Amino acid sequence: MAIYLDNAAAMRARAEALAAAMPYMAEQYGNPSSLHTPGLTAKKAIQKAREDIATCLWCKPNELVFTSGGTESINLGIKGFFEANRSRGKHIITTNIEHHAVSESLAWLRTLGADITVLPVNGEGLITVEQIARAIRPDTVLIAVQYANNEIGSIQPIAEIAGFAKEKGIALFVDAVQAVGHVPFALGSAEGAGKLPQGTTSQDFLGITMLAASAHKFGGPKGTGFLFVREGTKLAPQMHGGPQEMRLRAGTENVPGIVGMAAAIISSCRELREDSRKMRALRDNMIDRILETIPDSRVNGTRTNRLPGNVSISFAGVEAASVLVLMDMAGIACSGGSACTSASGTLSHVIQAIHMPEDYENGTIRMTLSPDTTRAEVDAAIAALTEIVAKLRAGRQ
Ligand code: PLP
Repeated sequence: MAIYLDNAAAMRARAEALAAAMPYMAEQYGNPSSLHTPGLTAKKAIQKAREDIATCLWCKPNELVFTSGGTESINLGIKGFFEANRSRGKHIITTNIEHHAVSESLAWLRTLGADITVLPVNGEGLITVEQIARAIRPDTVLIAVQYANNEIGSIQPIAEIAGFAKEKGIALFVDAVQAVGHVPFALGSAEGAGKLPQGTTSQDFLGITMLAASAHKFGGPKGTGFLFVREGTKLAPQMHGGPQEMRLRAGTENVPGIVGMAAAIISSCRELREDSRKMRALRDNMIDRILETIPDSRVNGTRTNRLPGNVSISFAGVEAASVLVLMDMAGIACSGGSACTSASGTLSHVIQAIHMPEDYENGTIRMTLSPDTTRAEVDAAIAALTEIVAKLRAGRQ
């Protein structure tokens, strides 16, 4: 692969994740529900992974449900919560820049009688706790807010929202698919946890009721994720079958995926401070130089509360699709928003939500860095982008 700048879509698996996962396909391939030794070996590996992930996130192992990734965790959290708690109320608050896994789960709940209030973000892609406070009603049961946006990288004030939700006794669901392994935080529900895990700050989020994650966004394998469900939360399973995962997620567990995910999260937590410092420096340098060298360009999202690897830029008067094709021909992989919306060819709901000037709307591209991204790769991407945007603009005249 030449230069890969689409790490928010999928990241290279960390060496530790590969090494941890392989034996559970090649040698220890027993089914964790089987009662023989190979089965028990697989079961123990899952339990160890659960403990390791819990240590990284500062929660309890039995608060983690393993799933097939972000989308399933989100569906289980949002739909499962509504189903199990609908007698308490039917009002849910969310934002207008959630991933489709969240907005479509909520759309489904609307058909089942839920009332959904969708809060608009500001021009930087942020909501405030005051907006949520104004929207709550006596029958509000759930607030669903993403931790960080996959397209423009904006990080929501989750600590404040979590504090507010806890004070009001309203459940908070957080889609943290883009944040886990990239932003330091602790769920703070582990009993007697002595010291915070490496990479986290003292900011713990006791007010988060559920949190969804996906392994391939932090260097684990695809098709694996987890849902954190705070102890005492009522949830209805969305997959019916066997008794796996505390009866919340039926089906044979993806043992190599789970073990690889745990190895990836341990490694990303350990490296988090250094990785994010390096990525933030490269990101800021890249944004500054693009804005300086390419006329009529603008950065999307906030400059401060932003995912360390996210560079979302719009160019006036050019089509993102053409930029992306020419970048790919130059050996540079980037995207036009999220991988999910870029396939549809329509203007993403996130770009619409932040209300940018019309002539910039169709010219938005997203470059997302990883801890492996080098300064030379960033330089090459800026050079290619400068040439491509100039060429496309010249062609229009
Ligand atoms: N939520 C966010 C913010 C995402 O970026 C993604 C994927 O890009 C998802 C949810 C869905 O995760 P998955 O692809 O693992 O189902």
